[in-house]
Amino acid sequence: MSLSECIIFTMMKLLHERKKIIKYSLQMLNSGLTTGSGGNLSIFNRREGLIAITPSGVEYPELTIEDIILLDIDENIINSQPNLKPSSEVGFHIALYQKRSDINAVIHTHSPYATTFACLNREILPVHYLVAFAGRKVPLSPYATFGTRELANNIASTIDDYNATLLANHGLIAVGSNIENAFNTAQEIEFVARIYYQSECIGKPSIIPENEMDKVIEKFKSYGSGKK
Ligand code: 13P
Ligand code: ZN
Repeated sequence: MSLSECIIFTMMKLLHERKKIIKYSLQMLNSGLTTGSGGNLSIFNRREGLIAITPSGVEYPELTIEDIILLDIDENIINSQPNLKPSSEVGFHIALYQKRSDINAVIHTHSPYATTFACLNREILPVHYLVAFAGRKVPLSPYATFGTRELANNIASTIDDYNATLLANHGLIAVGSNIENAFNTAQEIEFVARIYYQSECIGKPSIIPENEMDKVIEKFKSYGSGKK
């Protein structure tokens, strides 16, 4: 293969995943889950052993397919525009893929209501059954400077089998078996955080008991397929 053929071949890798990253980056911005270039998204194609991730500090409406960076699980860059570097949070994306083999997509947002709880250093308790998108609650990862190994370690040790975690004084992470699930979880958790906040504004929200949440989590296993 000639050098130019080799470059084109690499450029075409994970095209499907890169297109999805552009789509959900815009959806994240347009649905108010982040502002500016805040947050980041990645998809891990385990068969190819490659991760597609947003570049650092680029405004989402400006992103092109070529701007989405490809890396391997050891953080070696496989393909990138010369002027771009991977998200500063690439460490926690990789830490999550290494920790859980069921995770193939990670989305990090600065969504306002979830981030409000993160800034209060409070978990999101089950005030509404839709918290089950994350688990029995949304746990809180301890604070560490953005883009650090310490933050990645804190997240990896908090998330366990939850599908979302708050990042103290920072934002939210949602994970999923695909980007659709991860995005959906980020959106539903923002809804629950908003309801939690609003409930606290006018009274004392009642928390769903653990045995009831167990039932919801069981029902969620077969919910949403559209089949009987
Ligand atoms: P990046 O633009 O480097 O992905 O950083 C955004 C962010 O949210 C850091 O936590
Ligand atoms: Zn962030």
